Amino acid sequence: MIRIRKRATAPAMLTTLGTADRQRLEGIFAADPAACQVPRNQQLVAKPAIYGAAAVKAALAADQRGKCCYCESKFEATGFGDVEHFRPKAGVRQQPKSALEKPGYYWLAYEWSNLLYSCEICNRRHKSNWFPLLNPARRARQHDDQLWQERPLLPHPCRTDPATELTFNRHVAVEKNLSARGVACIRAYGLNRPPLRQRRYEFLETLKLIRFAASLDIDGMTPTDLRLTLTDLHMTKTEARRYVARARQVWEQAAFDAAEYAGMMRANFPHLPH
Ligand SMILES: [Zn+2]
Repeated sequence: MIRIRKRATAPAMLTTLGTADRQRLEGIFAADPAACQVPRNQQLVAKPAIYGAAAVKAALAADQRGKCCYCESKFEATGFGDVEHFRPKAGVRQQPKSALEKPGYYWLAYEWSNLLYSCEICNRRHKSNWFPLLNPARRARQHDDQLWQERPLLPHPCRTDPATELTFNRHVAVEKNLSARGVACIRAYGLNRPPLRQRRYEFLETLKLIRFAASLDIDGMTPTDLRLTLTDLHMTKTEARRYVARARQVWEQAAFDAAEYAGMMRANFPHLPH
């Protein structure tokens, strides 16, 4: 996870259709709060055609450089991607296995600041409806309650830098300074699930190879070594120089916001610019 900087202006879909539908949802709750609090309540259902509209998803994906807000994977070649609600819209759990409490934060279903772009595994298999508070008795239960009184355990990636709570030991996510928030992040988003950890391991190893390639001195090689290398790679000397330059560029940009697993790269190579 890294800090995410989203555009300040919400896509028009959210401020037009979303605002109207928020009023509809608030009206449903106001008319019969008890009915909206039963476990199987289907009264307060937000419309995916609005919060998940192509324009909304495209804006989030662009602002997050095509990466999942939690695991930082570039997954768009193999997944659709979810418009994720940081505060769950339909129901909420204080503990991962505790009962689903209704309603969720229905009034934030179309709220730009509550929306993120995530891979389906982080969202559906891991975070889902889990939204723990340090003070659960102060949880906002309806649209007139005060959100500022809540103390969420999970840091919002648009409001704080997750690096204050979370770091990496090589490819493994670890909490920083025994941070309870860091522990919660790793658990909530499944940041150490084996396939993801393996993917980060391979990524890190590849980046190290790129760093070695970046250090190659084409002009300092012996003529024999250079000839053997260029023959192996079916490459001219000019092309080899271009690859070395490209490797240096990839390495120098490996911790930029747009880079995959930038959080891991920053933790392992703090001198890299970002
Ligand atoms: Zn993810």
